[in-house]
Amino acid sequence: VSESAAKLPSKILELMDGFRASKALFVASKLKMFDHLKDKGPLKAMDIANEVGTSVCGTERLLDACAALGLLEKTPQGYSNTDSANTYLTSDGEYSLHGYIIHSNDHLWPLFTNLESAVKEGSRQNHRAFGKKGEDLFKDYYHSQEVKQRFMAAMHSIAHLTARDVATAFDLSQFKSACDLGGCTGALAHELVQIYPNLKVTVFDLPEVIANTSYFQPSGQDTAPVTFVSGDFFKDNLPEADLYILSRVLHDWPDEKIHVLLSKISAVCKPGSALLVAEIVLDEQKTHPPRAVLQSLSMTEGKQRSGSEYKQLLEKYGFTNFVPLYMVAEVLFPDNGLVLLHAFVF
Ligand code: SAM
Repeated sequence: VSESAAKLPSKILELMDGFRASKALFVASKLKMFDHLKDKGPLKAMDIANEVGTSVCGTERLLDACAALGLLEKTPQGYSNTDSANTYLTSDGEYSLHGYIIHSNDHLWPLFTNLESAVKEGSRQNHRAFGKKGEDLFKDYYHSQEVKQRFMAAMHSIAHLTARDVATAFDLSQFKSACDLGGCTGALAHELVQIYPNLKVTVFDLPEVIANTSYFQPSGQDTAPVTFVSGDFFKDNLPEADLYILSRVLHDWPDEKIHVLLSKISAVCKPGSALLVAEIVLDEQKTHPPRAVLQSLSMTEGKQRSGSEYKQLLEKYGFTNFVPLYMVAEVLFPDNGLVLLHAFVF
C-alpha cells in the first residue's frame, strides 16, 4: 500500500465523523454553553445543565465532545472555555462567529441534508428543507424578520472578522468616498472609516436590510458616520463614489446578472475610480480552497470563480490594471485564504 493510500483511511474517517463535530459545535453554540462558561472558573456539567435548562447526562456528553474537539478545556474541577472559544464562540465576543454558526445550523444544515436531491436535480433544495419554493436567494432570507436577522448576523460576524484585512490589503487613502454595494450591516464600512478618517462611506443594500441595520451599529465608540442608502443595485441609480466595493457579492450571481451590475458600476466610474472586490477565489482547477468548493454545493444561482474568471469578467467592463493579491487573510483562514482583487478603471 502506498504511503498516500495508507493515509487515506484516517482522512476518510475524519470526513465520516465531520458532521457529528459540526453539529456538536452548532448545538453547544445554540444553547449558549460558551456564553455560560465565559469569564467563569471551571464549571461542572450539572451547573451548566441547570443554567441552560438541559439534561445533565446530555450536557456532559456534549461538553466532553467539545473538549475532545479542542473547543473547551476539561480538568477535574470542570469545564472552561479555551481562549478561542471566548473570542469566537461566545455570542458577544468581539470577533464572534456565533451568527454564522447559527445560520449554518438553522439554514445550511437543512439544505445540506438534501444534498443528494440537490445533485440529482441540480437545484437548490429550499422546498424540501423549508417547505416552500425558493425564489430569489435574498427574498428567501428576507421574507421573515427572524430569518433576515439570522442571515444579517451571519454576514456581520464574517464581515467584522475579515474587515481589517479587507480594508488594509491596499492603501485606500487616495479615495475620498466609497460605496459598499451589498454592504449589509456596515461592518466593513465602519472599519474603513476607522482606518481612513477622511473617507466617507455609503452602504448600499436592499430596503429590507437597510431598515434592520441599527441593531448592528457599533456602540460607545466615536465613529465617523457611515451613510446607509437603500436600493436595488440591478435597477436603481448607484450612489456616487470614487471607490466601489463588492465584498462577497459577485459569488451570489450568474454571469448575466453580473453583466448588469458591472455595466452599471462601469458607467458611473470616472478615470481614477476603482473597484475593490473581496471574494474567496478558486484555483484554476477549481478544487481549492475546499471551503469555497464546498460552498458551491448549496446550488444557488451564483458560483465560485477562479482568478482568471474574475479577471476576464472585470476586464470586460473596463476594470483593467488588475492586481491580484493572494492570501491576505491567511492568518484568519489558514487553508481558505480570503483573496482580494483590486481593479482600477482607466
Ligand atoms: N458585503 C457583505 C459581506 O461581505 O459580508 C454582505 C455579503 S452578502 C453575501 C450579499 C449582500 O448583497 C446582502 O447584504 C444582500 O442583501 C445584498 N444584495 C443582494 N441583492 C441585492 C440587490 N439587488 N441590491 C442591493 N443589495 C443586494
